[in-house]
Amino acid sequence: MIIDPRIEHIIEQLEMMDILDEFHVDYTMDGKNIGVGYVGIRPCPFCGESNNHWAVNLKFKFGTCFKCKGRMSIFRLISYYGRMSFEEVKEYLLDKIDYDVDIVDQVTQIIRNKKEEPTYIPPKKDELPNNKPITYNLLRQNSYYKSFFIKRKLYYWDIKRYDLRYSKEQIIFPVYLRNKIVSYQMRNIKNKWYSNGTNLGSYLCYEDHILNNKPLILVEGFLDYTRINSYVKIYYSNEISVTTGYLKMISNKQIKRIIACKPSKIIVMFDSDSWFDYDRVKNAVPMDVDFIILPKGKDPNDLTWNEIDLIFGEISGKSRIRKRFNVDKHNNYQSMPKM
Ligand SMILES: [Zn+2]
Repeated sequence: MIIDPRIEHIIEQLEMMDILDEFHVDYTMDGKNIGVGYVGIRPCPFCGESNNHWAVNLKFKFGTCFKCKGRMSIFRLISYYGRMSFEEVKEYLLDKIDYDVDIVDQVTQIIRNKKEEPTYIPPKKDELPNNKPITYNLLRQNSYYKSFFIKRKLYYWDIKRYDLRYSKEQIIFPVYLRNKIVSYQMRNIKNKWYSNGTNLGSYLCYEDHILNNKPLILVEGFLDYTRINSYVKIYYSNEISVTTGYLKMISNKQIKRIIACKPSKIIVMFDSDSWFDYDRVKNAVPMDVDFIILPKGKDPNDLTWNEIDLIFGEISGKSRIRKRFNVDKHNNYQSMPKM
């Protein structure tokens, strides 16, 4: 039933009693009617029986009533005792990725203040600044915006796909996590000034699209991401994924999130000035880290399709019969408005 391997992993790590404590559920460890490996809870949510016939198995993490045979999976237990919808349970479990990775901080905190109960802290989110969606009309009327996207080979359907917005000469790139906006990056259209959401460094670009057990390409910025991602989506969809930390230097939180996504290896793509980040990722990540250095002065946006082809030929280690693909016929495709 559970399909997300990250959730399965989190559930494996969970202590059933921690969950019950977190939701202030009273349970009995032993006594009449309580089997080995179970804790008894009163009353039974199904039949209302209150002699500990309703019990939760600590190892296999399910609830069962020995009287009415009512049963709950861990998902339903959390939903029932935490008063959450199934969607919220999923989110609650996924948020534990950060929470559990910070186990050292957590233990330190508990030792420091024994009376303080460990509380669940979801990662902080940023609200988008006031903005408007980028429309076809805006591109037709405003040559700054139009040429910004043309220069970066971004089409109108990319703008829609990445949900780009604008505000006072700024382009806003929203950061999505599980279908919600959690942070953003903003770039001035006339110069290279960026401003970032406070918590941008806690998130990855399209983390939900990172594939388990497949190579992950880490690029330097969002615009690099769009270029490489367009290529990957056509020729390597379901084989390779791409992400970025948005910032010049990837944060430790972002590194933890990458590890939690379990790619088979990480390929850092950077220009010749950015060695430092490669070293940091290589030392911090317990998996294969490779790199691609782009020719001096080039970033992924300057690469021609053929140059990208060469790079990916090397990454995949196989010569590929390229599926010719007529982008113009794509359903969502709309060309840039003509001047
Ligand atoms: Zn019952």
